[in-house]
Amino acid sequence: MPTPPHAIGFTLDPLDRMSDKRDDEVFVSSLRDDPATRFLLFIDNVPLFKRDDGHDPLFDALEAAQLGKPLQSVLLGRDTHGHALFALTIDTAPDRLALDARPVEAIELRPVAMQGLVSPFLISALGEARSMLDWHRRHRFCANCGTPTDDAGAGWRRVCGNCNAQHFPRVDPVVIMLVADGDRCLLGRQKQFAPGMYSALAGFVEPGETFEHAVYREVLEEAGIRCTDMRYYASQPWPFPSSLMIGCFARAVETELTVDLNELEDARWFSRDEVVRMLDGTHEDGLSAPKGLLLRIICLRLLLWVIEAVVVLPILSSLVVLSFAVAAFPAGGVTFFAAAKKVTKESRLSDPKHLLGRPRHRTLDLAQQ
Ligand SMILES: [Zn+2]
Repeated sequence: MPTPPHAIGFTLDPLDRMSDKRDDEVFVSSLRDDPATRFLLFIDNVPLFKRDDGHDPLFDALEAAQLGKPLQSVLLGRDTHGHALFALTIDTAPDRLALDARPVEAIELRPVAMQGLVSPFLISALGEARSMLDWHRRHRFCANCGTPTDDAGAGWRRVCGNCNAQHFPRVDPVVIMLVADGDRCLLGRQKQFAPGMYSALAGFVEPGETFEHAVYREVLEEAGIRCTDMRYYASQPWPFPSSLMIGCFARAVETELTVDLNELEDARWFSRDEVVRMLDGTHEDGLSAPKGLLLRIICLRLLLWVIEAVVVLPILSSLVVLSFAVAAFPAGGVTFFAAAKKVTKESRLSDPKHLLGRPRHRTLDLAQQ
């Protein structure tokens, strides 16, 4: 299984998903009955954890049955020990759990991830589980004819008994980009952010767009500047509800900002040193940047160190990126080095407006490695 160039956020998938076995109902049933199988339990998209056991989200079949009636299950896969893992929605209300003083608690997944309450492997499995169970919850009727659908394939698709349409889980691509101007980068804040917090710009990819076009459009719409040299770096599943965050670099070709106040409350240029102080909590004006999850860390900490090398000094990028990638993420350094090295060999992408009609597969090749 491919190893991501980082080990934070929802990026580690330790499971063999066994996609070729999903339609083998006897096999799936045998897994469900196996005493070694574990279940990630959810109530209304909120995962359950054992209260006195270090936020352990793994329950056996007996524990799961005691906690509530199963409503929806999905076979997530099996771990490196060969033990199966299911996601399971149960019907017990969170307040009843509290009233019963049972040894479990329901905690929203986002703070669990932000606070690092469980291991990187478990947080990834919980993210996969949340996306799948939420998809079932919101897609109970056929989009083609409106008839209620049934789940199939161990929870990996829904089928319509009326028109025979099959429906599959959706993934919504979102670009999140660090736009650089020399050693400055562009950050913005939305109204709902915590006071003083700034982050990288982001937005959904629209039908018909490449990643590069989406980066160009979003930056132009939100900050009023054009950018170039878009580069894919890394991705992260973002299960709120089913996004895939696609982390990119870009270089500004103009610097005077025109902020779309419908989208952002503010956007401005920050120096590298200033962002480091924002991440460390030592900024003189109390400004901050999110930390704790993949792309925000990557975009705001790691990339700040490599952005000049990657964008401004491509000849040197391999060595510089290798140094920081290995130092920061030893397990993924070599993988990231290979990707970075490939970037330097490829001709850089230019303004998407001038790319129409030309092949644009180079960056996507990187994403597939
Ligand atoms: Zn139908």
